[in-house]
Amino acid sequence: MLILGDQPFKRLWTSELTRMYRVQHPTNQWNPAINVSEQAHGVYLAEGPASNWVVVRDQTGFILVDSGYPADRPLVLDSLRYLGLQPADARAMLITHGHVDHTGSAAHFSRSYGTPILCAPEEVAHVQGKEKHQVTFGQVFVRAWRPRVFRWMIHVIKAGALTAKPSPEARAWDAEELRSLPGSPAAIPLPGHTPGNVAILLPVAGVIAVGDSFVSGHPLSRKTGPQMLHPMYHTDATAALAAIHRLDGIEASIILPGHGPALHMPLAEALAALRS
Ligand SMILES: [Zn+2]
Repeated sequence: MLILGDQPFKRLWTSELTRMYRVQHPTNQWNPAINVSEQAHGVYLAEGPASNWVVVRDQTGFILVDSGYPADRPLVLDSLRYLGLQPADARAMLITHGHVDHTGSAAHFSRSYGTPILCAPEEVAHVQGKEKHQVTFGQVFVRAWRPRVFRWMIHVIKAGALTAKPSPEARAWDAEELRSLPGSPAAIPLPGHTPGNVAILLPVAGVIAVGDSFVSGHPLSRKTGPQMLHPMYHTDATAALAAIHRLDGIEASIILPGHGPALHMPLAEALAALRS
């Protein structure tokens, strides 16, 4: 994700880029009937315009895993209504890591509905906005001569990267609390993308939501299939790749990444692709 400062130069750029984006993209093409799909019993992947979120439901209610960019909030609400769910009934929102394209609706859910916003203990300060572990404007700007980077930069500005609100109410989960939620989630720490980054395993469904630990596509990438994000997105790219060994031996056959489509393949096969 991207964070930009508030200097006048950056404000000028961002307002101009936003204007250009609106000219090029006059309507929102997002449609829950197309972009929300059941990947396993009670587990839904919502593919937002630039990042994904996951809904897990059972007879006791539902949870969200991540929540898109700030501008995705109407789409998050749409995706729930499409599934016949009321946003106020969310039992919790689990945050894989504190980047703005994953926490975009957290503050709204917390303040409007009292939804618990839960993350790894090592990620609480990030989600609360007390720490920053994000690609900087400078890192993106020096690469903006590349069309893919330029288009992505415009998109994330439009998506609300500048107006992101932290979630001061976020707090650390514990394993028992997680297990009591729909899907019996378990958090697997994968430090590197951010210090407290995790994957969320839904063991009964055989699903793992990996956030940005690895992805299956990204606007900056020409590749499809399992892949690491560009190094500039990681707090520590070497650690991010090394951390995937923590997924060895975990049984899952459906992988839901933070960017790109669902992967229906054994987790071990995806990990082998990352190492190749
Ligand atoms: Zn991220």
